[in-house]
Amino acid sequence: MALSKDPNTLSNHLEFSTAHTAISLTLSFSKSSLYGEVELTLKALADGLKQVVLDTSFLDIKAVAVNGKGAKWIVGDRVEPYGSPLKIDLGKTVNSQDEVIVKVTWGTTEKCTALQWMTPEQTSNKRHPYMFSQCQAIHARSLYPSQDTPSIKSTFDFSIRSPLPVCASGLPTGVRHFVPATSSSEPGTLVYTFRQPIPMPSYLMAIASGDIANAAAGPRSLVYAGPEELLRCKKELEDDVETFIKTAESLIYAYEWTTYNVLILPPSFPYGGMENPCITFATPTIISGDKSNVDVIAHELSHSWSGNLVSNASWEHFWLNEGWTTYIERRIQGKVHGDKHFHFSAIIGWKAFKESVELFGADHEFTKLVIDLKGKDPDDAFSSVPYEKGFNFLYYLDRLVGRGKWDTFIPHYFSTYRRKSLTSFDFKDTLLSFFSKDAEASVALAKVDWDTWFYKPGLPKKPDFDTTLADACYALAGSWQALNSSNSFFKPSPSDISGWTSGQIVVFLERITDFPTPLRKGLIKLMRDEYGFLKSENAEILSRFLTVGLKAKDETLYSKTAEVLGGWGRMKFVRPLYRLLNECDRKLALETFEKNKGFYHPICRGVVMKDLGIN
Ligand SMILES: [Zn+2]
Repeated sequence: MALSKDPNTLSNHLEFSTAHTAISLTLSFSKSSLYGEVELTLKALADGLKQVVLDTSFLDIKAVAVNGKGAKWIVGDRVEPYGSPLKIDLGKTVNSQDEVIVKVTWGTTEKCTALQWMTPEQTSNKRHPYMFSQCQAIHARSLYPSQDTPSIKSTFDFSIRSPLPVCASGLPTGVRHFVPATSSSEPGTLVYTFRQPIPMPSYLMAIASGDIANAAAGPRSLVYAGPEELLRCKKELEDDVETFIKTAESLIYAYEWTTYNVLILPPSFPYGGMENPCITFATPTIISGDKSNVDVIAHELSHSWSGNLVSNASWEHFWLNEGWTTYIERRIQGKVHGDKHFHFSAIIGWKAFKESVELFGADHEFTKLVIDLKGKDPDDAFSSVPYEKGFNFLYYLDRLVGRGKWDTFIPHYFSTYRRKSLTSFDFKDTLLSFFSKDAEASVALAKVDWDTWFYKPGLPKKPDFDTTLADACYALAGSWQALNSSNSFFKPSPSDISGWTSGQIVVFLERITDFPTPLRKGLIKLMRDEYGFLKSENAEILSRFLTVGLKAKDETLYSKTAEVLGGWGRMKFVRPLYRLLNECDRKLALETFEKNKGFYHPICRGVVMKDLGIN
């Protein structure tokens, strides 16, 4: 593997590689900041090196030492959107294989983009403050000075002082009494320590602290949540987590991170889940009471192999993380619930993929599989494209060589790049060389148009998915379409959808939003009354129903939309609803954002501002 430059880091990662990161920090809820020391053990990759450059973004750097002695350092000018390089003079020349220990004393500032600090009022029981991190893609640099690129992986030790229980992306190694050096520490402070013995990139560094309790969700899994929500979360997850782990193990190889825990965060968490090692951070919107949204957990768990153990070397190859994960997630669903569910999930994914391509424009750079991110912010490229184009590419290869042979490649790929990072070109080489001795597979793979798959924007050819589960949804949507054009005697009733999975309801509603003519307002009221969608506690269903209503400019749903926008922070739901509300009633969209912007995570706040055209 040739090392290549990651365009989204200012660090000199081709000259030094972090082998170990030891972080010792204090959480201050009263100041909404954390501060402490980070010790990076760096290995030189070339001769004649005099300087280490680390990524930082809005950090307050207080001191730097190299091998135990004070060093000269400077924080360079800010380069948007990458932050400010911390340039450290080593005081001597360092050669390949030499080890350098750099210790930085620092604190975060109010401009930190990785952390969300919540007041007690913003949490569910309103008793204690809460904080959590979200570092992907390039926000770790606003949390601690690092080589903030997924091409560099290190082992970690965490030592975190907090007055409230702490979770972190490592294995817990204990809780200690804390003797404060100064009187400034908050009462009840303890030291929580964790160790991550498997090398991981900076973006997987994660911490959360708040009124968090835990309970068993499987033989090697705990669920963490607020004490009031714990039982409900445990019930939702406990039947499936171990089944998912075992199924993934049968496809790839044994789970390596020892424990697989899930932290259910407050509702402002911007993603469905974040695959932090040993502890997935997840949105509470997956807890719907009927287990219908737990496939998010199959997805995050799959990242334990694709993404966490085998990582994209830069965000330009993000499909290697997300496409593989989506593929494994669907294979798990197929094995657990039947092959029809693999296809059904792929059909839902294709719809999201098509919408992303339409939103960017079919010739947009970010609709390619391998993208150019030079000078760009990876958050701007985030969409379902890497997930779904990546999935469709892997599914195409799966069909091309045949499932039996393809399934022997899966463990080979994950073994080859275990604990490493790779590019799309490494993937191609590995695939071709694995099948080079198999004449039949080689002939099949010779048909792959790699340039088209990697660099052609827009949608590829849609595969013939098995539509068995979707057919009923399409048929019902067709009845509504006929009703909409007044040439039907169809009488909707609750029995139309009785026994349906929430996924089927989603497909039905998405089909409706695809109609060239929006539903008449009277029909939206009829749908609401007969199917009860407006009362659904399942965010997947409620958000789709509001989408149907907003597309029809149904004013009676504007205030409900504004209300749910104040209760969810998951971008999957928040961004499309803000865009639609903005088209319907810009004043209300802006007022709603203004009222709730403190509730959103900085990443969500930033992208919604762009979506709404607010500077
Ligand atoms: Zn993912």
